[in-house]
Amino acid sequence: MRALLLSVFVLGAPALADDADFAALRADLVDEVRVYAGYAGDDPFSDAVLEAMGRVERHKFVPQGQVRYAYENRPLPIGHGQTISQPYIVALMTDLLEPADGDVVLEVGTGSGYQAAVMAGLVDHVYSIEIIAALADSASTRLQRLGYDNVTTKLGDGYYGWEDHAPFDSIIVTAAASHVPPPLIEQLKPGGKMVIPVGGRFMTQLLLLLEKTDGGEIVTRQIGAVRFVPLTGEH
Ligand code: SAM
Repeated sequence: MRALLLSVFVLGAPALADDADFAALRADLVDEVRVYAGYAGDDPFSDAVLEAMGRVERHKFVPQGQVRYAYENRPLPIGHGQTISQPYIVALMTDLLEPADGDVVLEVGTGSGYQAAVMAGLVDHVYSIEIIAALADSASTRLQRLGYDNVTTKLGDGYYGWEDHAPFDSIIVTAAASHVPPPLIEQLKPGGKMVIPVGGRFMTQLLLLLEKTDGGEIVTRQIGAVRFVPLTGEH
């Protein structure tokens, strides 16, 4: 008994018993993200995006030791020096792309698969690329196990996009690049949008929203400061 009390005290959070506990925490998180958008000065997030977030069980996308923190509005470690993004940032990036039913989306940086799962609830299909083999494998297994049939993943360098499935209605890059990869611009449909953090490795980066006009021009909007792990690879 003493050992049990000690472990509860040391861990500092109650054990989460079942899906109902997680559902309640998830609903609170979605409310927090909704309010946070107001503080951050964003336009309100669309209900569809928040509802999609409310359906994805974030606690199933984090390592066992992080489960108790899964519904806190912050990034968490997922191993290999990588993170699952902060829920607010996931909502912001998803919302900026204005996902629609028939869209085909490319994600660069599968990580845990969480962002892909949120997006999958809003569009026709998500193609997602991860450069770390262990993460690509575990995300692919997880997404299949959880029934995300409209997400296809692969191991590779997302800098070069995924030519076979291009052009994309939207592209979401979840690692910080030093510049916008030209292959990704090429693989964006006219009228399509891309969100990407751009900047140096050990500093905050700028989240950019790019839109390709019907004429093929790129219009760029600066959204705000963010902090992401770097886009790696040989490019
Ligand atoms: N979207 C992820 C999620 O929901 O868990 C979080 C992504 S994490 C912030 C960034 C991911 O990008 C890492 O898993 C990292 O290995 C991956 N990454 C970095 N460079 C990459 C590249 N060139 N191509 C594909 N993935 C890359």
